[in-house]
Amino acid sequence: MSLTGSDPTHGEVVVTALGETCFYCDQPTSDPAITWHGATGAIWFHPACAVELCIRLNRDVLEWECRANARLVPKPTPINNRRTP
Ligand SMILES: [Zn+2]
Repeated sequence: MSLTGSDPTHGEVVVTALGETCFYCDQPTSDPAITWHGATGAIWFHPACAVELCIRLNRDVLEWECRANARLVPKPTPINNRRTP
């Protein structure tokens, strides 16, 4: 995952989203944006669209777990159950 736009530590644009299209809403992107590079290429998001997609992905995972009566990932250990060294 990369954020696009100016690098605040150097003031230069490292990666730009200009000329790209949002994977979620299919509208042109501008900086700042979010880009992910996967096995088949890169996808681009408006920041708000990345949030909307994450919400829906998490909902789909929960629905799958409920229907399968199984967990896709191990249940995390609650903080108050951790052992202290
Ligand atoms: Zn979008």
